[in-house]
Amino acid sequence: MTVSSDAPWTNPGPEPGPEAQPGKSRKAFWISSIIYYGIQVGSLLVFFFDFEPRYLLLCAATFFIRLWAITGVYHRYFSHRSYRTSRALQFLLGVLGTTAVQKGPLWWAGVHRNHHQHADQAGDPHSPRLGFWHAHQGWIMDPQWDATRFEQVRDLARYPELRWLDRWHIIGPALCIAVCYAVAGWGGVAWGFLLSTTLCWHVTYSINSLAHRIGRRRYDTGEDSRNSVFLALLTLGEGWHNNHHFHQSCARQGFYWWEIDVTYYVLYLMKSVGLIWDVKQPPARAYEPNPKIKTKASANPSPV
Ligand SMILES: [Zn+2]
Ligand SMILES: [Zn+2]
Repeated sequence: MTVSSDAPWTNPGPEPGPEAQPGKSRKAFWISSIIYYGIQVGSLLVFFFDFEPRYLLLCAATFFIRLWAITGVYHRYFSHRSYRTSRALQFLLGVLGTTAVQKGPLWWAGVHRNHHQHADQAGDPHSPRLGFWHAHQGWIMDPQWDATRFEQVRDLARYPELRWLDRWHIIGPALCIAVCYAVAGWGGVAWGFLLSTTLCWHVTYSINSLAHRIGRRRYDTGEDSRNSVFLALLTLGEGWHNNHHFHQSCARQGFYWWEIDVTYYVLYLMKSVGLIWDVKQPPARAYEPNPKIKTKASANPSPV
């Protein structure tokens, strides 16, 4: 399933596995589209409230906490299992992840593992080889990617509480709205949920649309992933995307001290107080002067 870099494919990729849920109906598609664009248009409601500093603080807090929940939990834990934790904290971190309004942890991890398994080839949900907007957000509305891909997340699906959370991922956004309302009323909801969610979405999506386009390549990983300091600062460290594709199960994406990786700094603190352990580090071969990494295994790495 190799595709030339000059010839984008047109086929939609593999069919959902036998355990995948049926795709959404047309009615459900329109409902989720209205919610998706409604939240973004709704963020303009911030202009209907007289500005208060607490609104800005709430927006910043919900933005950074939920962005970290995506990078440190949905991505580095559920998708790549780059550290270990207790079953109770695994569930609580999953609940935190759902507050970012990016569906459930099993859905997110399944789609993301597809990205690594087929990066920039047919079967990659959001390769920018099919265009910037497709990679940024167009793929989200493709019914093909609506169902949780259980065939990709068997290791996670064996926990019934995670399957439950994946089904009822709406509890996260509901919690976030409730907290924002309790802290600062409807103005708090506009700033801390609607605007913050919109910003968090597009910062997350910038990895899909830009991290295979801008920056430099340190490793020849068999796809287009790149390292970008701009994206790394914007996304709490996810911009070291070529490093990440080189060794995806590593909890650190900044392989050198100057490669700022805020997500990892938080994970380091959590490890220091015993909340998480077995935090995976870059392999020695990552620091070789001329790493011989263009192998079949690195071009199509295993998802975990
Ligand atoms: Zn990638
Ligand atoms: Zn990844």
